[in-house]
Amino acid sequence: MTQKTTIAVLGAGIFGSALAWRLAARGICPGAEILVIDPNPPAAQASSRAAALLSLSRPAAKSHWIPLVRQTLAAVETLAAQGIDVPAHRCGALHLADSPAVRDVLADHAATADAHGLNYERRNPASCAALLPWLDMARFSEALWFPDEGYTDPYLLASAYAAAARKLGVRFRCGTPAALATDRRQACVDLPEGRIHPETVWVAAGAWSGRVLRPLGLAAPQAAVRSQYWITGNTPLVPPAMPMVLAADLRLYARPEVGAILFGLREDAGMAVSSDQLPDDLAGFQFDPADPEGHATLEAFAGRLAHYAPGLMATGLRHYITGPSCYTPDGDFLVGHLADWDNLGLLAGCNGAGIAASAGLADLAADCIAGLSPAGLERFDPARFGRVEADAPEWRARCIAARAGKTSG
Ligand SMILES: Cc1cc2nc3c(=O)[nH]c(=O)nc-3n(C[C@H](O)[C@H](O)[C@H](O)COP(=O)(O)OP(=O)(O)OC[C@H]3O[C@@H](n4cnc5c(N)ncnc54)[C@H](O)[C@@H]3O)c2cc1C
Repeated sequence: MTQKTTIAVLGAGIFGSALAWRLAARGICPGAEILVIDPNPPAAQASSRAAALLSLSRPAAKSHWIPLVRQTLAAVETLAAQGIDVPAHRCGALHLADSPAVRDVLADHAATADAHGLNYERRNPASCAALLPWLDMARFSEALWFPDEGYTDPYLLASAYAAAARKLGVRFRCGTPAALATDRRQACVDLPEGRIHPETVWVAAGAWSGRVLRPLGLAAPQAAVRSQYWITGNTPLVPPAMPMVLAADLRLYARPEVGAILFGLREDAGMAVSSDQLPDDLAGFQFDPADPEGHATLEAFAGRLAHYAPGLMATGLRHYITGPSCYTPDGDFLVGHLADWDNLGLLAGCNGAGIAASAGLADLAADCIAGLSPAGLERFDPARFGRVEADAPEWRARCIAARAGKTSG
């Protein structure tokens, strides 16, 4: 590679692509030659598998995510102004509650929405029955309606970031193996033709980040937790105005998908793998090869589905999508320089919201690279867990629990 590289980003998923774009677009590292490297095609791994809810509504404990998601929504408009269109389906979201515990969850979301100026209103669940004929709305006692919520196509959004970055001179080298190495306590990158010594190296390698960091004796403080959803066949149970749904009693999220219903279930006892157990390419990867359509989870949820969503149970399933979502024990992102390494940073720990928060997180990472100190960055510090045994069962259990406790999109 003859061209000089000042900043190397390892990973061309949505995080790496967004980071490269924000760095180039903001001009905060003047003259920087930015190179994004990935052994796979861009956005072909976890990013293309996401349900891609762009949820603004969050509990108080995650209210600091709201500005990050707003930045992603603003980025979609910025990209559109450049002629790079990304679908943003603003279908609204309905949060439903039955039990007292979930009514408390809704109260938490409402208070956070008030504090952050999010549009929402209380609705009588029965009055929304025509929007969601596959749910038994008589089972729910409270509903919050967030009209500005929506979803996107995650592959197109990640590709749009990459296209905008390329327009600004960022180079993408995909299909090339890359390994992190060290030279006099500086991170550098080994490529097939030799070693490059960028001034800055950022790892944005999603579920592979632990594997990428290991040659330097470092761990990524996260676990690759199974995330899964199903898509029904086309069904008349999807009215044209079907909103997204979050029903925490059922641990379900759902959204329309071209005349079908896409729904995910957040299992209580999830599964996680180490980055060594992941293939280099997720195509065909299953967390549980003996259960390639997620039947075990559907069976575990059968009682709750029959109770709350009888129409869904009667609709045939056409697709099962699963992939690794990187959770941390506190359910928060990983953005920052790695301790004791001057030129090495990490952007990972998506916690199931990496599509929604992509542009906001990329701006934070870009600030770090430019030597700025954005407010609130300490809560994302990769060093906040101390020394981590990322492959230890206890660590993975804490990350799985963080996913199981999620109440937002
Ligand atoms: C089923 C499912 C549903 C989801 N639903 C949502 C949702 O509704 N909303 C939401 O916001 N998020 C959702 N997510 C999470 C979302 O997919 C992630 O937050 C996001 O894709 C993370 O992007 P990433 O760039 O970190 O990872 P990836 O897209 O996996 O990118 C990582 C890249 O690193 C590359 N890599 C590996 N090794 C190396 C190496 N040695 N050098 C360089 N590169 C390397 C990989 O090839 C890959 O391209 C969901 C995830 C799943 C699995």
